[in-house]
Amino acid sequence: MDLGIRGRKALVCAASKGLGRACALSLAREGVGVTIVARGEPALLETAQQIREQTHSPVIAVAADITTEEGRQAALSACPDPDILINNAGGPPPGDFRQWTREVWIAALNANMLTPIELIKATVDGMMARRFGRIVNITSSAVKQPIDQLGLSSGARAGLTGFVAGLARQTVRYNVTINNILPGPFETERLWSTLALAAKTARRTLDEEAALRRAQNPSSRFGDPAELGDLCAFLCSAQAGYITGQNILIDGGAYPGVF
Ligand code: NAP
Repeated sequence: MDLGIRGRKALVCAASKGLGRACALSLAREGVGVTIVARGEPALLETAQQIREQTHSPVIAVAADITTEEGRQAALSACPDPDILINNAGGPPPGDFRQWTREVWIAALNANMLTPIELIKATVDGMMARRFGRIVNITSSAVKQPIDQLGLSSGARAGLTGFVAGLARQTVRYNVTINNILPGPFETERLWSTLALAAKTARRTLDEEAALRRAQNPSSRFGDPAELGDLCAFLCSAQAGYITGQNILIDGGAYPGVF
Protein backbone atom coordinates (compact mmCIF):
# COMPACT_ATOMS: atom_id res chain seq x y z
CA MET A 1 0.00 0.00 0.00
CA ASP A 2 1.39 3.42 -0.97
CA LEU A 3 0.64 5.74 1.96
CA GLY A 4 0.56 8.81 -0.29
CA ILE A 5 2.98 10.90 1.78
CA ARG A 6 6.12 10.81 -0.38
CA GLY A 7 7.84 14.22 -0.25
CA ARG A 8 6.07 15.30 2.94
CA LYS A 9 8.09 16.68 5.90
CA ALA A 10 7.95 15.23 9.40
CA LEU A 11 9.24 16.47 12.73
CA VAL A 12 9.83 13.41 14.92
CA CYS A 13 10.63 14.15 18.57
CA ALA A 14 12.74 11.94 20.82
CA ALA A 15 13.81 9.84 17.87
CA SER A 16 17.40 8.63 18.28
CA LYS A 17 16.22 5.41 19.91
CA GLY A 18 13.22 3.25 20.64
CA LEU A 19 9.70 4.15 19.53
CA GLY A 20 10.54 7.59 18.12
CA ARG A 21 13.33 6.14 16.01
CA ALA A 22 10.96 3.46 14.69
CA CYS A 23 8.40 6.13 13.69
CA ALA A 24 11.08 8.13 11.87
CA LEU A 25 12.30 5.03 10.02
CA SER A 26 8.80 3.96 8.94
CA LEU A 27 7.99 7.47 7.70
CA ALA A 28 11.32 7.75 5.85
CA ARG A 29 10.61 4.39 4.15
CA GLU A 30 7.47 6.06 2.75
CA GLY A 31 9.60 8.82 1.24
CA VAL A 32 8.98 11.39 3.98
CA GLY A 33 11.85 13.76 4.82
CA VAL A 34 12.37 13.50 8.57
CA THR A 35 13.83 15.88 11.14
CA ILE A 36 14.76 13.84 14.19
CA VAL A 37 15.39 15.30 17.63
CA ALA A 38 17.14 13.91 20.71
CA ARG A 39 19.52 15.28 23.32
CA GLY A 40 22.49 12.94 22.94
CA GLU A 41 24.32 13.74 19.69
CA PRO A 42 26.30 10.52 19.06
CA ALA A 43 23.25 8.21 19.04
CA LEU A 44 21.25 10.81 17.11
CA LEU A 45 23.84 11.14 14.34
CA GLU A 46 24.20 7.36 14.12
CA THR A 47 20.43 6.94 13.77
CA ALA A 48 20.26 9.70 11.16
CA GLN A 49 22.93 7.95 9.12
CA GLN A 50 21.20 4.55 9.44
CA ILE A 51 17.86 6.02 8.28
CA ARG A 52 19.56 7.71 5.29
CA GLU A 53 21.26 4.47 4.30
CA GLN A 54 18.14 2.35 4.67
CA THR A 55 15.66 4.71 3.00
CA HIS A 56 17.50 7.32 0.89
CA SER A 57 15.09 9.92 2.32
CA PRO A 58 16.43 13.26 3.57
CA VAL A 59 17.19 13.25 7.31
CA ILE A 60 18.01 16.29 9.45
CA ALA A 61 19.30 15.68 12.98
CA VAL A 62 18.77 18.27 15.72
CA ALA A 63 20.50 17.69 19.06
CA ALA A 64 18.15 19.39 21.50
CA ASP A 65 16.01 18.88 24.57
CA ILE A 66 12.47 19.02 23.20
CA THR A 67 11.06 19.82 26.65
CA THR A 68 12.73 23.25 26.62
CA GLU A 69 11.67 26.36 24.72
CA GLU A 70 15.15 26.61 23.11
CA GLY A 71 15.01 22.94 22.11
CA ARG A 72 11.62 23.38 20.44
CA GLN A 73 12.85 26.51 18.63
CA ALA A 74 15.88 24.59 17.32
CA ALA A 75 13.63 21.76 16.10
CA LEU A 76 11.15 24.14 14.45
CA SER A 77 13.95 26.16 12.82
CA ALA A 78 15.22 22.98 11.20
CA CYS A 79 11.70 21.93 10.15
CA PRO A 80 9.61 25.12 10.08
CA ASP A 81 6.42 23.86 8.42
CA PRO A 82 6.06 20.15 9.13
CA ASP A 83 3.23 18.22 7.47
CA ILE A 84 3.62 15.56 10.13
CA LEU A 85 4.41 15.99 13.83
CA ILE A 86 5.26 13.03 16.04
CA ASN A 87 5.21 14.07 19.70
CA ASN A 88 7.36 11.94 21.95
CA ALA A 89 9.69 12.44 24.93
CA GLY A 90 11.22 10.41 27.69
CA GLY A 91 8.70 9.07 30.20
CA PRO A 92 8.66 10.28 33.81
CA PRO A 93 10.28 8.12 36.51
CA PRO A 94 8.28 5.50 38.42
CA GLY A 95 7.67 5.89 42.14
CA ASP A 96 5.29 6.49 45.04
CA PHE A 97 3.17 9.65 44.79
CA ARG A 98 3.99 10.47 48.44
CA GLN A 99 7.53 11.23 47.33
CA TRP A 100 6.58 13.44 44.36
CA THR A 101 7.04 17.14 45.02
CA ARG A 102 5.31 19.88 43.07
CA GLU A 103 8.54 20.28 41.03
CA VAL A 104 8.51 16.58 40.09
CA TRP A 105 4.89 16.89 38.93
CA ILE A 106 5.65 20.02 36.93
CA ALA A 107 8.57 18.29 35.17
CA ALA A 108 6.28 15.40 34.16
CA LEU A 109 3.54 17.75 33.00
CA ASN A 110 6.10 19.78 31.06
CA ALA A 111 7.57 16.77 29.24
CA ASN A 112 4.47 14.72 28.57
CA MET A 113 1.65 17.25 28.31
CA LEU A 114 2.82 20.85 27.78
CA THR A 115 5.65 20.11 25.33
CA PRO A 116 3.38 18.31 22.84
CA ILE A 117 0.75 21.04 23.26
CA GLU A 118 3.37 23.74 22.53
CA LEU A 119 4.49 21.91 19.39
CA ILE A 120 0.90 21.45 18.24
CA LYS A 121 0.30 25.17 18.84
CA ALA A 122 3.35 26.05 16.74
CA THR A 123 2.43 23.84 13.77
CA VAL A 124 -1.29 23.16 13.55
CA ASP A 125 -2.40 26.47 11.98
CA GLY A 126 0.09 26.04 9.11
CA MET A 127 -1.14 22.49 8.57
CA MET A 128 -4.76 23.67 8.44
CA ALA A 129 -3.86 26.46 5.98
CA ARG A 130 -2.12 23.90 3.73
CA ARG A 131 -5.03 21.44 4.07
CA PHE A 132 -2.86 18.54 5.21
CA GLY A 133 -1.53 17.60 8.62
CA ARG A 134 -1.01 14.51 10.71
CA ILE A 135 -0.17 14.75 14.40
CA VAL A 136 0.54 11.61 16.40
CA ASN A 137 1.27 11.69 20.12
CA ILE A 138 3.03 8.69 21.62
CA THR A 139 1.43 8.31 25.04
CA SER A 140 1.05 5.03 26.94
CA SER A 141 -1.34 2.19 27.67
CA ALA A 142 -1.10 3.58 31.24
CA VAL A 143 -3.57 6.29 30.16
CA LYS A 144 -6.23 3.62 29.72
CA GLN A 145 -5.07 1.09 32.29
CA PRO A 146 -3.02 2.66 35.08
CA ILE A 147 0.20 0.90 36.07
CA ASP A 148 1.39 0.88 39.69
CA GLN A 149 4.24 3.34 40.17
CA LEU A 150 3.54 5.20 36.90
CA GLY A 151 1.12 7.80 38.24
CA LEU A 152 3.22 10.67 36.89
CA SER A 153 2.99 9.19 33.42
CA SER A 154 -0.73 8.40 33.46
CA GLY A 155 -1.57 11.76 35.08
CA ALA A 156 0.38 13.94 32.64
CA ARG A 157 -0.60 11.94 29.57
CA ALA A 158 -4.27 11.95 30.54
CA GLY A 159 -4.10 15.76 30.49
CA LEU A 160 -2.73 15.70 26.93
CA THR A 161 -5.34 13.13 25.91
CA GLY A 162 -8.18 15.31 27.18
CA PHE A 163 -6.87 18.39 25.39
CA VAL A 164 -6.34 16.56 22.11
CA ALA A 165 -9.84 15.05 22.20
CA GLY A 166 -11.31 18.52 21.76
CA LEU A 167 -8.81 19.96 19.28
CA ALA A 168 -8.87 16.91 16.98
CA ARG A 169 -12.52 17.65 16.16
CA GLN A 170 -11.75 21.24 15.19
CA THR A 171 -8.91 20.47 12.78
CA VAL A 172 -10.19 17.45 10.84
CA ARG A 173 -12.31 19.51 8.43
CA TYR A 174 -8.99 20.96 7.19
CA ASN A 175 -7.57 17.44 6.71
CA VAL A 176 -5.49 17.74 9.88
CA THR A 177 -5.85 14.76 12.19
CA ILE A 178 -4.57 14.29 15.74
CA ASN A 179 -4.35 10.83 17.27
CA ASN A 180 -2.60 9.14 20.18
CA ILE A 181 -0.77 5.83 20.09
CA LEU A 182 -0.88 3.97 23.42
CA PRO A 183 1.99 1.48 23.57
CA GLY A 184 2.07 -1.50 25.87
CA PRO A 185 5.49 -3.09 26.53
CA PHE A 186 7.85 -2.55 23.60
CA GLU A 187 11.40 -3.82 23.47
CA THR A 188 13.37 -0.59 23.84
CA GLU A 189 16.16 0.66 26.10
CA ARG A 190 13.55 2.14 28.40
CA LEU A 191 11.76 -1.18 28.77
CA TRP A 192 15.00 -2.97 29.65
CA SER A 193 15.91 -0.37 32.28
CA THR A 194 12.43 -0.69 33.81
CA LEU A 195 12.78 -4.48 33.83
CA ALA A 196 16.21 -4.25 35.47
CA LEU A 197 14.76 -2.15 38.28
CA ALA A 198 11.79 -4.50 38.77
CA ALA A 199 14.09 -7.55 38.76
CA LYS A 200 16.29 -6.01 41.43
CA THR A 201 13.31 -5.16 43.64
CA ALA A 202 11.81 -8.66 43.25
CA ARG A 203 15.23 -10.37 43.60
CA ARG A 204 14.91 -12.04 40.24
CA THR A 205 17.42 -12.17 37.40
CA LEU A 206 16.78 -9.94 34.39
CA ASP A 207 16.01 -13.03 32.28
CA GLU A 208 13.48 -14.25 34.85
CA GLU A 209 11.81 -10.86 35.00
CA ALA A 210 11.63 -10.57 31.20
CA ALA A 211 10.20 -14.10 30.88
CA LEU A 212 7.57 -13.29 33.51
CA ARG A 213 6.55 -10.08 31.74
CA ARG A 214 6.37 -11.76 28.36
CA ALA A 215 4.20 -14.52 29.82
CA GLN A 216 1.83 -11.89 31.32
CA ASN A 217 1.05 -10.54 27.86
CA PRO A 218 -1.54 -12.43 25.75
CA SER A 219 0.90 -12.41 22.83
CA SER A 220 3.65 -13.96 25.02
CA ARG A 221 6.11 -11.36 23.79
CA PHE A 222 7.11 -7.72 23.84
CA GLY A 223 6.23 -5.45 20.95
CA ASP A 224 8.77 -4.79 18.23
CA PRO A 225 9.25 -1.00 17.81
CA ALA A 226 8.95 -1.48 14.03
CA GLU A 227 5.32 -2.56 14.56
CA LEU A 228 4.57 0.72 16.28
CA GLY A 229 6.52 2.68 13.64
CA ASP A 230 4.37 1.24 10.86
CA LEU A 231 1.15 1.98 12.77
CA CYS A 232 2.36 5.55 13.15
CA ALA A 233 3.15 5.80 9.43
CA PHE A 234 -0.36 4.58 8.58
CA LEU A 235 -1.93 7.19 10.88
CA CYS A 236 0.11 9.77 8.96
CA SER A 237 -1.01 8.45 5.58
CA ALA A 238 -3.24 10.20 3.06
CA GLN A 239 -5.73 7.35 3.60
CA ALA A 240 -6.07 8.04 7.35
CA GLY A 241 -7.77 11.44 6.97
CA TYR A 242 -11.02 10.15 8.53
CA ILE A 243 -9.33 8.91 11.74
CA THR A 244 -9.00 11.63 14.36
CA GLY A 245 -9.18 12.04 18.13
CA GLN A 246 -8.52 8.34 18.62
CA ASN A 247 -6.50 6.53 21.28
CA ILE A 248 -5.04 3.49 19.62
CA LEU A 249 -3.74 0.74 21.86
CA ILE A 250 -0.90 -1.40 20.56
CA ASP A 251 -0.23 -3.79 23.40
CA GLY A 252 -0.49 -7.42 22.28
CA GLY A 253 -4.00 -7.58 23.76
CA ALA A 254 -2.91 -6.71 27.31
CA TYR A 255 -5.86 -4.37 27.93
CA PRO A 256 -8.67 -6.76 28.77
CA GLY A 257 -11.72 -4.63 27.88
CA VAL A 258 -14.18 -5.45 25.10
CA PHE A 259 -13.78 -1.90 23.70
P1 NAP B 1 13.87 4.99 24.83
O1 NAP B 1 14.18 3.74 24.14
O2 NAP B 1 14.52 5.29 26.12
O3 NAP B 1 14.12 6.21 23.81
C1 NAP B 1 13.83 7.51 24.20
C2 NAP B 1 14.26 8.46 23.10
O4 NAP B 1 13.80 9.76 23.46
C3 NAP B 1 15.75 8.57 22.94
O5 NAP B 1 16.05 8.83 21.58
C4 NAP B 1 16.09 9.78 23.79
O6 NAP B 1 17.33 10.36 23.42
C5 NAP B 1 14.90 10.66 23.47
N1 NAP B 1 14.59 11.68 24.47
C6 NAP B 1 14.30 11.47 25.79
N2 NAP B 1 14.07 12.63 26.39
C7 NAP B 1 14.21 13.60 25.45
C8 NAP B 1 14.11 15.02 25.47
N3 NAP B 1 13.84 15.68 26.60
N4 NAP B 1 14.31 15.71 24.32
C9 NAP B 1 14.59 15.06 23.19
N5 NAP B 1 14.70 13.72 23.11
C10 NAP B 1 14.52 13.01 24.22
O7 NAP B 1 12.29 5.12 25.17
P2 NAP B 1 11.02 4.46 24.43
O8 NAP B 1 10.77 3.12 25.03
O9 NAP B 1 11.15 4.60 22.99
O10 NAP B 1 9.86 5.40 25.00
C11 NAP B 1 9.40 6.54 24.30
C12 NAP B 1 8.17 7.07 25.04
O11 NAP B 1 7.14 6.08 25.00
C13 NAP B 1 8.41 7.39 26.53
O12 NAP B 1 7.68 8.53 26.89
C14 NAP B 1 7.86 6.17 27.22
O13 NAP B 1 7.44 6.45 28.52
C15 NAP B 1 6.69 5.82 26.32
N6 NAP B 1 6.30 4.41 26.44
C16 NAP B 1 7.18 3.41 26.19
C17 NAP B 1 6.77 2.09 26.33
C18 NAP B 1 7.72 0.93 26.06
O14 NAP B 1 7.38 -0.21 26.39
N7 NAP B 1 8.86 1.13 25.47
C19 NAP B 1 5.47 1.79 26.76
C20 NAP B 1 4.60 2.84 27.00
C21 NAP B 1 5.02 4.15 26.85
P3 NAP B 1 18.18 11.25 24.45
O15 NAP B 1 18.11 10.59 25.79
O16 NAP B 1 19.55 11.28 23.86
O17 NAP B 1 17.53 12.60 24.45
